Amino acid sequence: MNRIIGAHTVDNGGIHMAALRAGRTGMQALQIFTAIPKYYGDKTSIRPERVQRFREALRTAGIEPANVLVHSAYVLNTATSEEEKWGRAAAGLRKELERSTALGVGALCFHPGAATDGDRESALGRVALAISRALEAVPGETKILIENTAGAGMTMGKTPEEVGGMLDRVPPPLRRRTGYGLDTCHLYSAGHDITASAGALMAILDRFEEAAGSPPAFFHLNDSEGALGSNRDRHVLIGEGRIGAEPFRWLIQDRRSAGVPLILETPQQHYDVAEEDDTPDPYDVRMLELLRSFER
Ligand SMILES: [Zn+2]
Ligand SMILES: [Zn+2]
Repeated sequence: MNRIIGAHTVDNGGIHMAALRAGRTGMQALQIFTAIPKYYGDKTSIRPERVQRFREALRTAGIEPANVLVHSAYVLNTATSEEEKWGRAAAGLRKELERSTALGVGALCFHPGAATDGDRESALGRVALAISRALEAVPGETKILIENTAGAGMTMGKTPEEVGGMLDRVPPPLRRRTGYGLDTCHLYSAGHDITASAGALMAILDRFEEAAGSPPAFFHLNDSEGALGSNRDRHVLIGEGRIGAEPFRWLIQDRRSAGVPLILETPQQHYDVAEEDDTPDPYDVRMLELLRSFER
């Protein structure tokens, strides 16, 4: 068994350094931001030199571009009923897809945002429309993937039905460039008890697969500081949170973790690593060893 495991490594020095750090850790996958995630980034393009440096670094690191995920900005609320905000979010998502496509990565993932007016049903359509507009505007192979959320407030994407409902509303010709991914911390804090047994975890994955019509296209592997159903989005090292290590063994053993990027978004020991330093982060090394031990 050889799962495609990676992390959202620190990008001090540039995204090419994030790739080199993941490669030196022994990872085959990677997640990055292509702009500052707390801004819309709807005017931010990516310079060709930066693209070239990144792609060279992936080659050096031995990471296939298809196994790279871009995580979009957190502020893009494609579910909002406020017209101006939705317009900016949709433009931001399109620009994210443009940058991701320029980098040649497999997919862009994003949090769908919140139904600010409380009408979750119409929010499904607004998220789907933002996805469709971006895919229409930016041709290519890079996919847009919805990430399940911890479910705080009116945030969309906490149930299989909501994830499936958003994807269903994307016109069929564009549907092959969309999909979704599951974050273990978000699943748990949204109330899906993936810790009860291997069977319970599989049943939850079955429900998502059935509602969305496809298996997850990636996983985010994070333990959760918050309790089951707490809606708290706080990641901790695997084995040090409420989920514990065992459910990650079950997940690694499940067929659905094969062939898709499995990305750690767990804490780093050194966020202040020097720009030119590509030494693996000790926490990432530990997490990768732990996950590899579950493959046997
Ligand atoms: Zn995320
Ligand atoms: Zn999270």
